[in-house]
Amino acid sequence: QPIDIGISNLPNQCYKIVSKRGGQFNLMVCGESGLGKTTFVNTLFQTTLKPVSLPANTTETSRMQHRGSIKKTTEINITRCILEEKNFELKVNVIDTPGFGDNVNNNKCWNTIIDFIDDQHDSFMRQEQQPFRKTKFDLRVHAVLYFIKPTGHGLKPLDVATMKSISTRANLIPVISKSDTLTKEELNVFKLRIRQVIEAQNIRIFTPPLYNSNTSDDLGSTSSNNDDIEDSQAAMEHSKQLIEAMPFAVIGSETRYDLGNGNTAVLGRQYPWGVVEVENDDHCDFRKLRSLLLRTNLLDLILTTEEVHYETYRKLRLENADV
Ligand code: GDP
Repeated sequence: QPIDIGISNLPNQCYKIVSKRGGQFNLMVCGESGLGKTTFVNTLFQTTLKPVSLPANTTETSRMQHRGSIKKTTEINITRCILEEKNFELKVNVIDTPGFGDNVNNNKCWNTIIDFIDDQHDSFMRQEQQPFRKTKFDLRVHAVLYFIKPTGHGLKPLDVATMKSISTRANLIPVISKSDTLTKEELNVFKLRIRQVIEAQNIRIFTPPLYNSNTSDDLGSTSSNNDDIEDSQAAMEHSKQLIEAMPFAVIGSETRYDLGNGNTAVLGRQYPWGVVEVENDDHCDFRKLRSLLLRTNLLDLILTTEEVHYETYRKLRLENADV
């Protein structure tokens, strides 16, 4: 099908490394129901994702045995799609947590999310200990999109607590959902408030590195002609823009509208006074977030998951095993 969401714009180098690592991207979406998570995911990947069932070894059975049976109100759903562009294939798994935050008492309802992330690290660790196993089943979460309700007020205690726990284990990316429901002014104030809380609470969110990580290593290239310099300056500029836009204000829609300007129809949401466009930088940060997730920082997300988050988990487990 004619999807072109831009993964083919990844630098060559990045393609090769991602392909070598199985060409897989595991994205978790988290937030109350009704915040537009499903719509956003379908908008991002320009397709409707298919549900998959979890293999037995990734479920929480092992934990249930450890801790006794815990009644779960939040579940885990996994959907999948395969993106193909110009000989590059990316298998995408989207992990959703329907029911998160929907209860009157949401005390510790982030446990399911945290357990899932930890379980995947655990499962991968056990597979690594079996040297003859060639294909590893890997659902380690590369990025968590945390959907914030567009109230205009600030973060709720539940948001703060959940984001805090996630950020110690995975790449956390906060997003303001349904940002078309806020005015420009309200959105600016809301973003500022959220950034202040994130800073005050020491929540570590994923930040694109301020150097051109995709071309700097592995190749051993020492060429430093003007093109390279301009490229890396442009990349740095792009990263800066992404950092400044956090938390990303997003809009989701699977419907296209003809704006009557002779151009092709655009993804958007129609209001009596006009169409708000998903892929218009003046209307929301969708393009920036897509770029971060699927173009400029796909490899960073995968590598930090393996080299930072997975390693931290592994070290902790091994240390505890010694005691
Ligand atoms: P989920 O429960 O978080 O997966 O939310 P859904 O994707 O099912 O969306 C819930 C409702 O919000 C639906 O009626 C969507 O049409 C609507 N919705 C989704 N995205 C947006 C958005 O960006 N803006 C607005 N105004 N509504 C949206």
